[in-house]
Amino acid sequence: MKADIILLKYGEISLKGLNRPMFERQLISNVAKALAPLGKFSVRKSQSTIYVEPLEDSADTELAVERLSKVFGIVNICPAVKCEKTIESIEKTTLECLSQMDIKGKTFKVESKREDKQFPMNSPQICRHMGGVILKNTDGLSVDVHNPDILVQIEIRKEAYIFTQKVSGAGGMPIGTAGRATLLLSGGIDSPVAGWMIAKRGVRLEAVHFHSHPYTSDRAKEKVIDLARIMSAYTGEIRLHVVPFTEIQLDIIEKCPKNYLTIIMRRLMMRIAEKISVQNGSSALITGESIGQVASQTMESLVVTDNAVNMPVFRPCIGMDKEEIVTISKKIDTYETSILPFEDCCTIFVPKHPKTKPSVAEIEEAEKLLTDPEGMMAKAIEDEELVIIK
Ligand code: ATP
Ligand code: MG
Repeated sequence: MKADIILLKYGEISLKGLNRPMFERQLISNVAKALAPLGKFSVRKSQSTIYVEPLEDSADTELAVERLSKVFGIVNICPAVKCEKTIESIEKTTLECLSQMDIKGKTFKVESKREDKQFPMNSPQICRHMGGVILKNTDGLSVDVHNPDILVQIEIRKEAYIFTQKVSGAGGMPIGTAGRATLLLSGGIDSPVAGWMIAKRGVRLEAVHFHSHPYTSDRAKEKVIDLARIMSAYTGEIRLHVVPFTEIQLDIIEKCPKNYLTIIMRRLMMRIAEKISVQNGSSALITGESIGQVASQTMESLVVTDNAVNMPVFRPCIGMDKEEIVTISKKIDTYETSILPFEDCCTIFVPKHPKTKPSVAEIEEAEKLLTDPEGMMAKAIEDEELVIIK
């Protein structure tokens, strides 16, 4: 049955104290934004539930559910059918809903919530009554109160709402409730997952991508823009700073010992990202690093990379195996794009024997050989291309 209304249930937000209205307002605003391209919807809140109602008949509620499943802060999405607040009307609508489902041999249970205390039956009475009505008027259904296949839910509010379907939401906290952080976004599998995980906690994303034209192609850059676009279905707008990195890379190659190349490159990336963060009101960096995954991600290398900046660096993949990261990347739809074979600026010019146990002192010594790192970083930032992804 086509849903008339969609009920959104939120979890962690309802545990908030005095700040709760702020979280709810942000969530409502994010829901409205996610649905805006699909037409006109009313979005309102009552008792820890958000009600989304299409205001035009043409609105595609299935597409709305799909979009809502990417809005952080929502735990469950329940497409529901609306009816008049009389028991006759509730009976008729519930039976209509069930008649359109495959119920043969299945078990069910009725749950009810009565917000409107004027309604003549209380919740246990509604459940008992409707259980009886369903048993009498359907074929092949039996009751299981512990582990039912079909949970028929009836809520009596301004009107009566009936639903049997519960779609899992994305969880987390509403974007915009936890500040802003800058994701170092490569074209790989890990960094989109890392950004998604931090955004899930309500953090707005700024992103930086280092591009080594002409050693890396325009396709490689497009791929990163595509990744940011896929992520933006969850994160909302992402401001992606595409920073030219070739000059810096060539200077490192020319001046510094070969086996330090990757680690020095990573430190300069972090320093540029930190400067961009300061300019854009972002207060932390995010990377897709995981302990021991490659030479530049040993404990010693991570310590040396961290040491390049003052900002906190969030590495949500730090304790994850590649398999676990891949699982999330498939779930959020970035995987297929991440595995497209375009070179990244980290993979061209990789040293044969990268240093796996560098110390801060030796790397700082090696960096003194660079021509003018501050000047080169400032120029790279000045020459950035800003891509705004909505
Ligand atoms: P990913 O799958 O995210 O590319 P990776 O395992 O390939 O990660 P590295 O290439 O060592 O690892 O990069 C580690 C992290 O550094 C990445 O997760 C990303 O945050 C950042 N990074 C690497 N290359 C770039 C780049 N070209 N632009 C921006 N950030 C980058
Ligand atoms: Mg990479």
